Amino acid sequence: MNNQPHTISRICCVCRKLQPVTNMTRVVRVNGEFFVQTDKRLNGRGAHVCSACLNSANLQKSLCRSFKTQLPASILQQLTQK
Ligand SMILES: [Zn+2]
Repeated sequence: MNNQPHTISRICCVCRKLQPVTNMTRVVRVNGEFFVQTDKRLNGRGAHVCSACLNSANLQKSLCRSFKTQLPASILQQLTQK
């Protein structure tokens, strides 16, 4: 079904649209701690946010819903600074 195996797509947790991961930022929770993934792949429960949604007013709400918990303010700051 996928004729572009090198293009990985994920659903953005804010707008719920399928987007290529190259256009997205991944937030990961590892052992209860949150990280904004950079180039290194982290294993853990993750949520993807597309670049357009980093400025969305619904960003925090959507991420909290994805992780079923409140996100640290430092993580939200890292996301919105990009
Ligand atoms: Zn989005």
